[in-house]
Amino acid sequence: MQPTKLIYLEDFTILQSGATVFDVFQENGCYVLILDQTIFYPQGGGQPYDQGYIENEQGKFKVEEVRFVVGLVKHIGTFESGAFAVNQNVTCSVNPERRALNCRLHSAGHVIDMAVTALKLSWVPGKGYHFPEGPYVEYAGSLEGVDKEKLKADIETASNVFIAQAIQTKLIFMSKEEMKHLCHHVPDYLPEGKPVRVVMYGDFGVPCGGTHVSNLQDIGDMTVRKITQKGPNVRVSYDVNR
Ligand SMILES: [Zn+2]
Repeated sequence: MQPTKLIYLEDFTILQSGATVFDVFQENGCYVLILDQTIFYPQGGGQPYDQGYIENEQGKFKVEEVRFVVGLVKHIGTFESGAFAVNQNVTCSVNPERRALNCRLHSAGHVIDMAVTALKLSWVPGKGYHFPEGPYVEYAGSLEGVDKEKLKADIETASNVFIAQAIQTKLIFMSKEEMKHLCHHVPDYLPEGKPVRVVMYGDFGVPCGGTHVSNLQDIGDMTVRKITQKGPNVRVSYDVNR
């Protein structure tokens, strides 16, 4: 089966789109739907999956979970009515409220990166957790001798300054080599020899496949909740207004 075309990777503003059913089967008591293309974001990069509906005149499918498995996006859920057959056309609708919150939380994680870079902290970006329950970003680094309350306030202020600048999000596909010129940090796990995507905020580039706000202003006010040492890592916990 050919890989699912990832529409969300090229344009994360599309929340409704057509698709063709490639396969439909049962797995672990749920239905799994494979389409030729999808606007549904599968879980990954610290960002939760989309939910929503896929429907046509023959049936209505509730998308409860979305996963990326070797080139294919699995839309996992239940039929609220009817059923689909292979080759049928369907309409996909992503739940806009869930997507919007995930985009704001995920993009806010990048803004923390921008603030950390602007403050010239010599931390190396690590993992991010952009789920609504307790979002944070981690860096390899130490808080020894650091005034944590002052740092927390500095990162929060710098973050909100970037948001107030209303910087537009741009997407660029490029090779990993080109990326090293544009990005502050390029993780080792990116695939070699094939184009990967960079998200640009002004001159700040981040290799990332997630979904984002179109303009940093859409994040709204954000807060840094706390800064803690977790073994060799510094964890910056944050939140957006809800
Ligand atoms: Zn991102």
